[in-house]
Amino acid sequence: MKRLLLAVIDGCKPSMLERAVERGEAPAIAAVLERGAFVPELCAAFPSVTPVCATSIATGVLQDRHHIAAMNWWSRAERRYVEYGSSFRAARKLGIAKQLTDTVYNLNGSHMAADIETIYESLDDVGVRTAGTTYLVYRGRHEHPISRETALTRLAGTLFRKPVMGPRELFYADIFASRETGCRSQMGLPGIRDQHSGCVGAWLAARDLYDFLLLSLPDNDTYSHKNGPHAQPTSIAAADAQIVRVAEAAGGLERFLDTHAVIICADHSHAPVERRIDLRGAFGDWEVAGPGGRAVEEAELALCPNQRAAMVYGLVGEARSTVIPRVVETASAIPGVDIVAWREGEEGVIRGVGRGELRFRVGNPAPAHPELRDARGNHWTVEGDLGALSATTSDGRFDSPDYPDALRRVWAALTCATAGDVLLSAGPGWEFPDWGGADHVGGGSHGSLHHSDSLGALAFCGVDRAPASADGAWSITDVAPMVRAHFGIAPN
Ligand SMILES: [Zn+2]
Repeated sequence: MKRLLLAVIDGCKPSMLERAVERGEAPAIAAVLERGAFVPELCAAFPSVTPVCATSIATGVLQDRHHIAAMNWWSRAERRYVEYGSSFRAARKLGIAKQLTDTVYNLNGSHMAADIETIYESLDDVGVRTAGTTYLVYRGRHEHPISRETALTRLAGTLFRKPVMGPRELFYADIFASRETGCRSQMGLPGIRDQHSGCVGAWLAARDLYDFLLLSLPDNDTYSHKNGPHAQPTSIAAADAQIVRVAEAAGGLERFLDTHAVIICADHSHAPVERRIDLRGAFGDWEVAGPGGRAVEEAELALCPNQRAAMVYGLVGEARSTVIPRVVETASAIPGVDIVAWREGEEGVIRGVGRGELRFRVGNPAPAHPELRDARGNHWTVEGDLGALSATTSDGRFDSPDYPDALRRVWAALTCATAGDVLLSAGPGWEFPDWGGADHVGGGSHGSLHHSDSLGALAFCGVDRAPASADGAWSITDVAPMVRAHFGIAPN
């Protein structure tokens, strides 16, 4: 059986991947495309931000099952914000040690649902030799002690002392390293530094130490945030160079592809950003929990900006039924907000600002409301204004190309136990600044339900197509089943 390389290029925009290949600057991706397939519409989760999507890639389920609701979310259990690293400014505002602990330990150790399996866990259980570079999700079946004192461990003090459960070979920002490779990541948390992944990957490939390797290539996202999506060919070429580096260590690209299946995928895409949405200002009359706002005991709301999406939590349990409609009205009036979604019992409601409201529920058609099938073959009952999602129906099919896989993604977000009560998606060109006030105006960002930041790239060879829908609409949740199937693990 061939080994399998899963390379995740953060934020990889399909048109920019094609451009890098056309220019001859991405030889590894070009070789994979030559031998295999290209999918230009790999649909992200909503919010289309890295923690949610990275977890969906690693598990094959959306956040209704995996519980990683967003980059920034409110823990109702602990009554505090959880922040996985929107920006350094946001981390400083909400507490750097807390942010590091949430990202490095709690995401895997307690936030992610215990009753789902990561691909590492599935493969570890059948004796596949797993290996991973610095990626937000690392949960596996092998224990790893902290490797050495680093700048990061000193920053987070005594919090960083516990061993973690990871793949057989785990390399994570110099904090965990199952072998002495000589590769150094400095402060390379998830979100920075492809070269550490390439260095570690090449070291492992040269010694034949894995059957499955997750090669995390996050720098494209950082570059695109700063320089805009159109600049991505440069950073995709840089990511490709790290794949080449691993391939060279295994005997060169041709030999590598003879011995390896390869999946290269994005977690989400990127869209240009021109303007900021004033979320805090819009809720200025409310008692909002957090820095510069109200103490938790007195707060009515928690606000969680997530780049081109946001979540609002009602904090006063008994008042939630009256608070949510007021939040919806306030949110609908904020310039730049495109979609407002919330839940009413077993129904989801999606308001397209200025385009009406659509109500939907899973399957179970009432006779008066014929059941519709979406592009992934999921069944829904839909009422109200299709215009809310610029959707159309014909022959029992529901299509919303501007908002791909909209119903499944919004329903997963609304039924995620840790998500907000009201979800917001930004219109093209707009972004919610994070808790530190940081934005990406003039560059690129993502998070929304819109196709521009939802549809990422997928290329693969040597591995069977995912058992996706007959209609062929792809989702990031198709990646884990492809990986499992390659190693003979049947879907459960
Ligand atoms: Zn990003």
